Amino acid sequence: MTTTDRSIAAYLGLAIGDALGATVEFMTPREIAAQYGVHDALIGGGWLHLKPGQVTDDTTMSLALGHSILSCGRVDALAAALAFDAWMRAKPVDIGNTVRRNLMLFRRTGNPAAPCSVHDAGNGALMRILPVALATLGQSHEAVRTACRAQAHVTHNSELSDAACECVVFMVQDALRGQDKNHLLHYHAHPLVARHPEFRFRGIKPVGNPGGYVVDTLQAVFQAFFDTDDFKSCLIDVVNRGGDADTTGAIAGMLAGALYGPDAIPCEWRHTLNADVRHSCEAQAVALIQLADESAKTA
Ligand code: MN
Ligand code: MN
Repeated sequence: MTTTDRSIAAYLGLAIGDALGATVEFMTPREIAAQYGVHDALIGGGWLHLKPGQVTDDTTMSLALGHSILSCGRVDALAAALAFDAWMRAKPVDIGNTVRRNLMLFRRTGNPAAPCSVHDAGNGALMRILPVALATLGQSHEAVRTACRAQAHVTHNSELSDAACECVVFMVQDALRGQDKNHLLHYHAHPLVARHPEFRFRGIKPVGNPGGYVVDTLQAVFQAFFDTDDFKSCLIDVVNRGGDADTTGAIAGMLAGALYGPDAIPCEWRHTLNADVRHSCEAQAVALIQLADESAKTA
């Protein structure tokens, strides 16, 4: 399996997790069980009244970011802010409060870095981080960190959000290189918990109804990701926890896609995913990895 195969799977995983989870976003596990038994199909609906296979801000902001990276040839904060602003003007189906507030601030100030705030520890920067992981593959840790922060701080300037973004990016990159799940656990997830014990996900009860707080999000994602052994089980596990399910689905989907690769993605999910979104995800994954290869050659 090539790095490009895994990158495509990561991008499709993000979109599929978003589409799957959006049906049950803001529901509790009990409500999901009563209505669906186990929710495991891309049927749309949910509070946003989506079509089957339709995605939300998690995927569309990622595509906007990816487009800005490809236009500039690198991760650039101002280009990302302009891309997100254009995305907001196009009236997306959903938008997070922190994203809206700090994009409105950007419109007034032109500064693509939001003020540092402990209240901005939502998952909005993490959910759209995948294009950064792909574009910076092969760069130094410091360069990857700088790129993570440039995109994240447009809307979320918080230490915990940064820690989560960097951890997930390094996990995705190692998965793209073919590292196994145990490696991701010992070299990335455990060290994150050592630095920021808030993120502890082992030895606690299963996280149900995770909110938009990046800590809740990542605890739910890590429990689902590390305690299952295939793409489908991971996504079903995480979205049936409810809460911010499109976003936990998106993040779990990018990790599981990178780890398990394209053949692990169920055909019915891949084909129900909105066709335009599917093509955009595949095309961006290929182009971003190409950019990473070129950047590595000229570095
Ligand atoms: Mn969403
Ligand atoms: Mn969400």
